[in-house]
Amino acid sequence: MSSVTVIGAGLAGAEAALTLANEGVAVTLIEQKPIRRSPAHHSDLFAEVVCSNSFKSDCPTTASGLLKCEMKRLGSALLPIAYSVRVPAGGSLAVDRNLFAEAVTEKIRSNPLITVVEKEQTELPEGGYTVLCTGPLTDGALYQSLTRLTGGDLHFYDAAAPIVTAESIDSACSFSESRYGKGGSDDYLNCPMTKEEYEAFYEALISAEGVVMKEFERSEIFEGCMPIEVMAKRGKDTVRFGPLKPVGLTDPRTGRRPYAVVQLRKENEEGSLYNLVGFQTNLLFAEQKRVFSLIPALKNAEFVKYGVMHRNTYLNAPRCLNPDFSLQKMPHVFVGGQLSGVEGYMESVLTGLVAARNILRIMQGKEPFRFPLQTMTGALMHAVACSPLEHPQPMNANFGILPALDNPPRDKAKKKELYSERALQALEEYLTQEE
Ligand SMILES: Cc1cc2nc3c(=O)[nH]c(=O)nc-3n(C[C@H](O)[C@H](O)[C@H](O)COP(=O)(O)OP(=O)(O)OC[C@H]3O[C@@H](n4cnc5c(N)ncnc54)[C@H](O)[C@@H]3O)c2cc1C
Repeated sequence: MSSVTVIGAGLAGAEAALTLANEGVAVTLIEQKPIRRSPAHHSDLFAEVVCSNSFKSDCPTTASGLLKCEMKRLGSALLPIAYSVRVPAGGSLAVDRNLFAEAVTEKIRSNPLITVVEKEQTELPEGGYTVLCTGPLTDGALYQSLTRLTGGDLHFYDAAAPIVTAESIDSACSFSESRYGKGGSDDYLNCPMTKEEYEAFYEALISAEGVVMKEFERSEIFEGCMPIEVMAKRGKDTVRFGPLKPVGLTDPRTGRRPYAVVQLRKENEEGSLYNLVGFQTNLLFAEQKRVFSLIPALKNAEFVKYGVMHRNTYLNAPRCLNPDFSLQKMPHVFVGGQLSGVEGYMESVLTGLVAARNILRIMQGKEPFRFPLQTMTGALMHAVACSPLEHPQPMNANFGILPALDNPPRDKAKKKELYSERALQALEEYLTQEE
């Protein structure tokens, strides 16, 4: 079998390299450390966990737990290492980050099929199967090269607003209407606020605690996109004349224009997820939950994703990637990790794993996997590669991207259980047929 090049030995790249080598394929793993390091990477080890040490829930009836079950079934190389160095964290899989990176590095360095090349990759290889996993902080010459290849369909930073599930929005406190009746009548869900409700929300917003940004993020982000809490601090009515403006909207409950309105926009075709329009934010996750739940329609909202603001290089996947995450213009290059448009540690590992598995299949003369949409893997790849949005936001594993259940029970816990059961069964049936 010919050898495969993996660029970047982070979470996705380490997973791809080990998966390929475990199947007997020679790998050239190109990593810029220790010659060059991003501002968020601090060690010279592979699979460095840059921020929180949590890989999220391990319970199969949560979205992240389900993702792990699927990754185990697909033969993830990194997951067993993570379990071997886990630290107590309730129902979550948290790791000792140093032990984790050390163990992954040792597995890679001691594998005779993996040749590590320490250099900064500046161009995409013209030929030969490649897995590109240079992560959300991809910059310099490679960033320029990707910009040229994609015609600029590459996002530089991630200023994402929170996303909530449609079913958790209080319908008694919200209404569908486009501003001035323009566009489809159900394009937006409006969450009206009275003067008193707005004032309580405003006070909470301006006093909420934010994330401390890294120096490189501070200079790059604020020029382009202002967090809602920063805008609010400019004056009591600034956001009421900005993202919360009520003009062109009539609350059917009162027949009048509300004092302020938070608009929610559909995040996916099915309408199972909504984002808070103009609410890019840098508040701590717990603060987002506390403050945004003061919006009456969102008092019981389930946040599948909180707003984030950090440097994040990622492709506009629907325009650049095939459904199997190979580059449309260079199909021998598969993209893994955060660069592909997924978000999160485990999601990054998953895409490294799938890229490796797909290359192995192609080498065996088979078609790349097309995982069923009922699986978290299939749904996540579909949500990323087939997003209907002009500017897709990075996506993590969540139940909102799965197709609705045929007869959904009212009980939320039961519903999640059914989603998980259906996903694992669909994956098993699919793999039995494919393998
Ligand atoms: C500041 C920050 C904090 C984050 N916090 C979290 C969190 O708490 N929880 C979470 O789930 N996700 C978090 N993420 C998102 C994401 O899960 C992580 O960034 C994750 O590490 C992505 O994995 P990856 O394999 O895509 O990239 P990385 O793990 O970043 O790996 C990329 C690798 O490629 C190498 N590389 C880059 N460019 C080149 C080049 N030109 N040539 C050769 N090698 C190169 C890098 O040195 C690095 O080793 C965070 C991201 C950032 C930026």
